[in-house]
Amino acid sequence: MISEQLVNEVNEQIKHEFFSAQLYLAMAAYCASEDLMGFANFFKVQAEEEKFHAMKFFDYLIERGERTRLTALDPPKNDYSSVLDAFKFSYEHELFVTKRIYKLMDIAVDEREHATISFLKWFIDEQVEEESMFSALVKKLERVDNNVSGLYMLDAELAQRTFTPPATA
Ligand code: MG
Repeated sequence: MISEQLVNEVNEQIKHEFFSAQLYLAMAAYCASEDLMGFANFFKVQAEEEKFHAMKFFDYLIERGERTRLTALDPPKNDYSSVLDAFKFSYEHELFVTKRIYKLMDIAVDEREHATISFLKWFIDEQVEEESMFSALVKKLERVDNNVSGLYMLDAELAQRTFTPPATA
């Protein structure tokens, strides 16, 4: 059995993960409107990952005999001044998500809820990857500096990204 506080925080996290999916879909729409279909693909795949994260928390509550309570989501930011702007926003968003996961872990540790600690470890590692991926792309885009051929090269690279549910799920 997990505490009411932990159940509430996991519910809150499900909301953040679905919000992340919406945010990245909004970015995909922006990139597509700029005819950057590779970048749009990258963000669509990212949105799939976020839905996967939400469902991982959703299923965890079921496994623990608890119930998910879904809530309305805030509208995501739809407008960006450039792809670099979108990636900087993504990176900042992932830093926020990391803080959220740390908060969950802090509560689980305080409560000595070992099963939840074990469950959350996957997300701690995942956030290291998310931060590193977005930070690398911000740096690449800063170097590209609106150079059209550089931007199209990166677009072609990001067109290759596909969603594969992690094996550890
Ligand atoms: Mg996530």
